[in-house]
Amino acid sequence: VTIDASEGTRAFSLDRAHVFHSWSAQGALAPWVPAGGLGTTIWDYEGKRYLDFSSQLVNTNIGHQHPAVVAAIKAQADVMTTIAPAHANIVRGEAASRILERAGGHFSKVFFTNGGADANENAIRMARLVTGRDKVLSTYRSYHGNTGAAVVATGDWRRVPNEYARGHVHFFGPFLYRSEFWATTPEQESERALHHLERVIQAEGPQSIAAILIETIPGTAGVLVPPPGYLAGVRALADAYGIVLIFDEVMCGFGRTGEWFSFVTPAATGGERVQPDLVTFAKGVNSGYVPAGGVIISDSIANAFDEEVFPGGLTYSGHPLAMAAIVGTLDAMADEGIVDNARMIGERHLGPGLRALAERHPLIGEVRGVGVFWALDLVADPVTREPVSPAIIGRLKKELMARGLLPFSADNRIHVVPPCVVTPDEVAAALAIYDEAFTAVEA
Ligand code: PLP
Repeated sequence: VTIDASEGTRAFSLDRAHVFHSWSAQGALAPWVPAGGLGTTIWDYEGKRYLDFSSQLVNTNIGHQHPAVVAAIKAQADVMTTIAPAHANIVRGEAASRILERAGGHFSKVFFTNGGADANENAIRMARLVTGRDKVLSTYRSYHGNTGAAVVATGDWRRVPNEYARGHVHFFGPFLYRSEFWATTPEQESERALHHLERVIQAEGPQSIAAILIETIPGTAGVLVPPPGYLAGVRALADAYGIVLIFDEVMCGFGRTGEWFSFVTPAATGGERVQPDLVTFAKGVNSGYVPAGGVIISDSIANAFDEEVFPGGLTYSGHPLAMAAIVGTLDAMADEGIVDNARMIGERHLGPGLRALAERHPLIGEVRGVGVFWALDLVADPVTREPVSPAIIGRLKKELMARGLLPFSADNRIHVVPPCVVTPDEVAAALAIYDEAFTAVEA
């Protein structure tokens, strides 16, 4: 690939002049300008190469520019670039059947959306319609997307200036390292978090609660792998009180945990099969090559709309280019053992490597994760667990970029989230870079 450095300069100045960015004050932004990527590698207009350990927004599960996915999109573009959602379309049906095959269990239909937020929006709507109830319970440590109900279901700071939707109630999920329940063991944390959730359900009035919406493994909030028994306990509470259970697998689905979904990932479920009623997805389903998301719907909820009208839709629901990217992605992931690779990388390379890193660096308070989905919780003091300041995170990011690693950070954490195609050699190179960057910052 030839790189024209002047194009990088032009990309930067056009962006600064005309592009309005997400979640930011616009004035002082200085966005990085990538020129291209392949697999785990991404490069800038100076030709400097970086290991992409962010997977962008934790979505390029298959890596950059996977040739089979690019070819599938090109081939579909030659056949039909767009089609109304009311028509039947072969590639949409193929995408839905592949997703359902991977979800297994009692799921029978897929409703396609443009991304993750509107997937949650529509899942919430389905839950309200089938229960005739209103409230949605979700956790404070969560992100569910930037639309009406999804952003109010979100627990983090992004909800607060956007609270225009009604019927949302928040609770605390389990997080042993920073326990809200004074717990000291995973079992205690699980039990007490379930007790807290049940008390919230009772206090809110079970007859008013349509849905419990949780990220199976909360992602942006810190890769909070739930303790044993928690997800099964939430399922039991949903059953006991007639509440629809929605698992948001937008970030944690489609290979990131080393399984097709987090709700079948032993580290998250303790080995039990926990079936939600609705699963929302986006990101990894086609690695974001063309925007797409959706809701995987259980038989009983799908059947509820056999006679009743579902009052929802999108012009681009099941867009053929996005569907072709899904088919190309899911086939390549299966054919090339990419999900197995993510599991192997987590078990043999990233997990042990990051734990060894934590032993050498007092800044790392806890290492959490599974597959290619990890967080380093950074602390100013390992005893009090006081989070490091934003300045430390800023410094670390600079040191990592200087050494050729594109990082992902959130609050006081560095999330280690490479594509599922990452190789052992790339992990070794990345671990050496993290090691040097921590050493530089600690000095
Ligand atoms: N749900 C989760 C768990 C997410 O991580 C995200 C995005 O980061 C969303 C929903 C929103 O997805 P999108 O940005 O595609 O609307």
